[in-house]
Amino acid sequence: MKSMLQIGVIGTGYVGLVHAITMAEFGMHVVAMDIVEEKIKQLQSGLIPIYEPGLEILLMKNQKEKKIEFTTDMKKTVENSDVVFIAVGTPPQADGSADLQYVKAVAEEIGKFINKDIVIVNKSTVPVGTGKIVKAIIKEQINKRNVQYKFDVVSNPEFLREGKAVEDCLLPDRVVIGTESEFGRERMEEVYDTLIKSKVPILFTSIETAEMIKYASNAFLAVKISYINEMAMLAEKVGADIHEIARGMGLDTRISPKFLNAGPGYGGSCFPKDTQAIVEIGKEYQEDMLVIQAAIQANKNQSKKIVEKMIKVLAEKKKLKDATVGVWGLSFKPETDDMREAPSIPIIQALVKEGIHIKTYCPQGMKEAAWRLSKEQKYIEYCTDQYSAVKGVDLLVIITEWEQFKMADISKVKQLMSGDIVYDLRNIFYKDDTVMEQFEYYGVGCVKK
Ligand code: NAD
Repeated sequence: MKSMLQIGVIGTGYVGLVHAITMAEFGMHVVAMDIVEEKIKQLQSGLIPIYEPGLEILLMKNQKEKKIEFTTDMKKTVENSDVVFIAVGTPPQADGSADLQYVKAVAEEIGKFINKDIVIVNKSTVPVGTGKIVKAIIKEQINKRNVQYKFDVVSNPEFLREGKAVEDCLLPDRVVIGTESEFGRERMEEVYDTLIKSKVPILFTSIETAEMIKYASNAFLAVKISYINEMAMLAEKVGADIHEIARGMGLDTRISPKFLNAGPGYGGSCFPKDTQAIVEIGKEYQEDMLVIQAAIQANKNQSKKIVEKMIKVLAEKKKLKDATVGVWGLSFKPETDDMREAPSIPIIQALVKEGIHIKTYCPQGMKEAAWRLSKEQKYIEYCTDQYSAVKGVDLLVIITEWEQFKMADISKVKQLMSGDIVYDLRNIFYKDDTVMEQFEYYGVGCVKK
C-alpha cells in the first residue's frame, strides 16, 4: 500500500491556511508553518486568525483526525514533507513590481533542510521566471551542503476567492500546474488525486506559462470591472441603466454575466497588486500592457468620481464640517475581514478631508480599518451594528454588499437618519421601491426615477 503523502505548507495566510486544511481534507498529512508565533499558537488551539466562512469547522475536523499540525519550525516542515508549498506574500514594491524577498528567503531555508527527494511548489503569485530563481537558490544551498537530492520546482498558482475560499479549494474550476519533470508531474498528480477523480480540469504547462496564467486571469477580471464601471459612469450621463446594459451584454455567452457589476472600483490584496505587477513585467520585456494600464487608471478614477458626486450632493444640504456620513461595509468585499486596498479607505479619507464625520459598521472589517485609518480616527465612530451606524447621519453610503445590509429594515433606517440621502455603491437597493420612495437615492450607473 502507498504511504500517505506528507505535505508542508509555508505561510498560513489567506492562501496557505485554506490550502493546508484542504490538503488535509483530501487525506494527506500536513505540516503548516508560519514565522508568526501568535498565529501558530492560535491555530494549534483550533482558532483561525482570519475570517473565512466554513474554515474553522474544517480545521477542527482535520485536527481531531490528526491530519494537520502547525509549527514555526522550518526544519521540521521541510524534513517531514514529500511536497512543500510556498504560500507567502508577494506584496507590491514602490514601483508596482512584486516583492520576492519572502519567497526567496523561504527558498533559501528549504535548501538548507532538504534531506530527501522532494517537490517544491510555488503557490504565491509571482512574476514569470521566479520558478527558475527559486530552483537556483535551492540548488545553491544543496551544493553548499555537498549533498545530492532529486528536487523539482513546480508552479501551482492559486485562484481562490476570499469569502468563498473553502469551496474554491475543495472544488476549483481548474488546477494549473507548471512543471518540467516527470517526477514533479507524478507527485502533483498524487497531491491532486481527489480533484482528478472529481474530473476537475488539470492543466499541465511549462513553469513560465503557469506563472503567467495567474496574472493574465487577474488582470482580465480587473479589466472587466473597470470596463463596466466606465460604462456605468457614461450610462448615468446619457440616462441609460447599467443593470440592463450588463444584462444585455452578459446574455451573450462570449461575454458572460459575471464580473459585470458596477461599483466603487476593485480592491483587495490581488487585483491592484497583480495588475501593477504585470505592467512592470511588461516593461522588463519592452511590452506595453496598455489595456491593463488603462484599467488601473480607470479604477483609480472610479472612487474619486463617486466621492466628488457624494460630496456635491451633501454640500447642497449641509455645511460639510457639520455633516455626518454613515458607512455600511469596510472590507473589500463581503464575507471577509480583508481590508487590503479596500475602496472604503480612500472614500473615508476623502470624506474626512472635507471635515465630514463618519459612523460606520462592518461585520468583519472594523478592527483592521481602525489601524489603517488611524490618522482619521478622531473623525470616525465604529458602531456595534448597522442601525447605530445610521443614527443621526445625513447620508448613508453602502460600500460593501454584506447580506445583512440587503435585509435591513429600511423604515427603521429612515427613522434613525437625520438626512435622507442614500449612496448605494453596490446597487443593492436599485430595484427597491420602498428605498426609492423614502430616500434621495443614488446608485452607480442607475437611472434616477
Ligand atoms: P498573507 O499575507 O495573508 O499570508 C502570507 C503568510 O506568509 C503570513 O502569514 C506570513 O506570516 C507568512 N510568511 C511570511 N514570510 C514567511 C516565512 N519566511 N516563513 C513562513 N511564513 C512566512 O498572504 P495571502 O493573501 O495568503 O497571499 C499569499 C500569496 O498568494 C500571494 O502571492 C498572493 O498574491 C497569492 N494569492 C492570494 C489570494 C488571496 O485572495 N489572498 C488569492 C490567490 C493568490
